[in-house]
Amino acid sequence: MKPIEEIKPLLVTPKKVVITMHQKPDADAMGSSLAMYHYLRQKGHDITVISPTNFPDFLAWLPGADLVVDFESMQDKAMSALEGVELLFCLDFNALYRTKNLAPYLEQLKCPKILIDHHLEPQPTFDYGVSDTKASSTAQLVYETLYKLGEEQYITEEIAQCIYAGTVTDTGSFRFASTSARVHRMVADLMDRGLKHEIIHQNIYDNFLENRLRFIGHSLLHRMEVFYEYNTAMMAIPYADLKRFDLQTGDTEGLVNFLLSIQGIKMAALIIDRREEVKLSFRSKGDFDVNTFARKYFEGGGHFNAAGGRSTDTLEKTVQRFIHAMEENEALLQDHIKV
Ligand code: 5GP
Ligand code: MN
Repeated sequence: MKPIEEIKPLLVTPKKVVITMHQKPDADAMGSSLAMYHYLRQKGHDITVISPTNFPDFLAWLPGADLVVDFESMQDKAMSALEGVELLFCLDFNALYRTKNLAPYLEQLKCPKILIDHHLEPQPTFDYGVSDTKASSTAQLVYETLYKLGEEQYITEEIAQCIYAGTVTDTGSFRFASTSARVHRMVADLMDRGLKHEIIHQNIYDNFLENRLRFIGHSLLHRMEVFYEYNTAMMAIPYADLKRFDLQTGDTEGLVNFLLSIQGIKMAALIIDRREEVKLSFRSKGDFDVNTFARKYFEGGGHFNAAGGRSTDTLEKTVQRFIHAMEENEALLQDHIKV
């Protein structure tokens, strides 16, 4: 993969561009994609942003979110954007399978594929890009890319909003270890460019519907299990709960972090029966590597301290497999976190 700054000559003349992200995109996937969109638009390119699936309502305020093409519900529009595309940007994922039903179409494309991402173990499919697992977020990498291209003058307030949204969510509001001094300097720069951070926090974190909060209460009371001897907390959500509380895309976001707030917990697992598959979310503290854990047991991956996976077994069977996997990792899980 050639370094990202080598795309500069490709951007000199207007091109047909597609920007895409992982399925069920989070604020980082959407924020970084839309930041890139707003930059490329100022340069006169013809750009379509495609999401493999729908995205959470609480991201609808992002500037340009209304232009995002959902591949599942707007397949014709997405297909015509891919027809004759000259540059493909892949943001916040590094393996094509993460674009779900869009993946076979991306695989066939002959145009240069550009990666901007911070997950572990990228596929060797990409021609240009940056894959930096130390970065707090893909949004931070988009910001740094604009500087590397010498194009920082294009960072408008809209772009600042998109970048901030991706960064604040992926850093757990600037608390994870990935929140480097560089991240804080970037935010200062974004504020100099007009960013009003409190509005973004409100848009993201104070935008729940009542049912979502009640679902959280219900889950904490009835669905949480703590395995103190393994320093692990788990929550298994049956499909009936998703129906009962009328949950929409994105409504389970952040739930797994509650588990990690229990004293001494090293690994947290949220296991949700989504009907088409069982989705797993893992978080850890300190030296327990959930990327390896998710890859080994649940066809997944991600980061060292935050990863995801899936299972085609029933919820009950998946929970049993999780407990078995936890037991296999007893030695790694038993050490208490050194503070
Ligand atoms: P979440 O638990 O929020 O869905 O995902 C946590 C992290 O792991 C995110 O960075 C996400 O992109 C990544 N991730 C989630 N599911 C998968 C998966 O199935 N495969 C891979 N490689 N990464 C995943
Ligand atoms: Mn990310």
